[in-house]
Order: sequence, then C-alpha cells, then structure tokens
Amino acid sequence: MAETVTGFALRVVDGRRLEKPLRDALRPGGVLCDGEGRARILPRYFYEIPSWQVARETRLSAHFDLWEFIHTDVREAPPLRTFPRYVPCALPLLAASLELFRESVGTYVHIAANGGYRSPRHQLTCNASPHAWGTAVNLYRIGDTFLDTRDAVERYAEIARETIPGVWARPFGDGPEQTADQLHLDLGYIVAVPRDVPGDTYNPKLDDDPL
Ligand SMILES: [Zn+2]
Repeated sequence: MAETVTGFALRVVDGRRLEKPLRDALRPGGVLCDGEGRARILPRYFYEIPSWQVARETRLSAHFDLWEFIHTDVREAPPLRTFPRYVPCALPLLAASLELFRESVGTYVHIAANGGYRSPRHQLTCNASPHAWGTAVNLYRIGDTFLDTRDAVERYAEIARETIPGVWARPFGDGPEQTADQLHLDLGYIVAVPRDVPGDTYNPKLDDDPL
C-alpha cells in the first residue's frame, strides 16, 4: 500500500515507495543540513497532483490555489517538471496561514515563481530551506505594491508576524539570509503525517539512544 485516502481531493503517497528518479529528487525522509550544520528531516508523505488542471482546480484556502505553490522553472529537478507532481503534506498548513495574512492585508497576495515548494534537488536549494518542506513562500507583490523596497518588505513582514503565530520573515538587505526583492515567510521545518498513512511498525530495538 503506497497510498491512502483522506477527505482532501488529492491522494497521499509514501515518497519511499515512488520510483527511483522521484525518490532521488524528493529524498523522502532524508536529511538536509541547514546553514549551521543542523540536520533537518525531510518530508516523507506527499500529495500527488495528477495534472496542471487539477493543480488549477484544487483550492487550498479561500484565496490560494495549489498551482500557485508549484510554479517552478527549469531549475527544478527534471522528474518534478512533469506530472504527476508531488508536494509535501504540510503545504495546506502554509496556505491556511497565508489566508490569515491575506485577510489582514485585504488584497491580492502574489507568490513568486520558484517561491513555493522547491524539492531538495531544485537548484536554489543549497542548505535546508523550508521551501523543501512546503512551508515557505516568497511573495513579490501585495495588491499594487511590489516588495522591492525596505519599507514594503518590513511593513508586510510585520503584518505577517502579527497574523501568523511563529512565522519567520527574512530580513531586508543584500547579505546572506536577507532579501531585497521578495518577502520570504516560513513556518519552519514542519513534517506532516496524515492520519492512516502506512508508516513503519515501531521497533524499540532500532530506537536511537536519545543521549
Ligand atoms: Zn524563500
């Protein structure tokens, strides 16, 4: 059983049971280190998107559709540039969080190309980034305001912090871990495991010593 059914329209797949090119691109349950060398465990379960049309028709929240989060270019790994495509099961949490932000700003919120889900093999993924968890987004425009000035980036980052508990906004600037032309928001390295996915049977003999 590589799949399970939920109330959501898309089926859930265990990434470890996908074909090898997809496993190599998604690295389900693997490890990516962040910029400080800390190991972060990648998502294992994914929603399967059969076609672009389904991506266009699948609403994740009142104002955000699935396609907006998978708009990538040739920098994405080749197996993930054709359908079916896969997104981590935490992605709807990101959309729900953005909906709070959308309500607060009261206007359109535009996600940049390559600014939603990016696989671990996407060329923009160097160290661990919540983009590879489906829990980060880059916004380039809100209403008529382009997010390419300190004032705009900092103003909307503040609104995000007020409306999305625990969100992290990349500071404005030209240095590493900074942004000058987009607003990066993320929820951290959330791994979502939908109810009733197959998983593994617990074996205490294989459990790691916590110390
Ligand atoms: Zn980003």
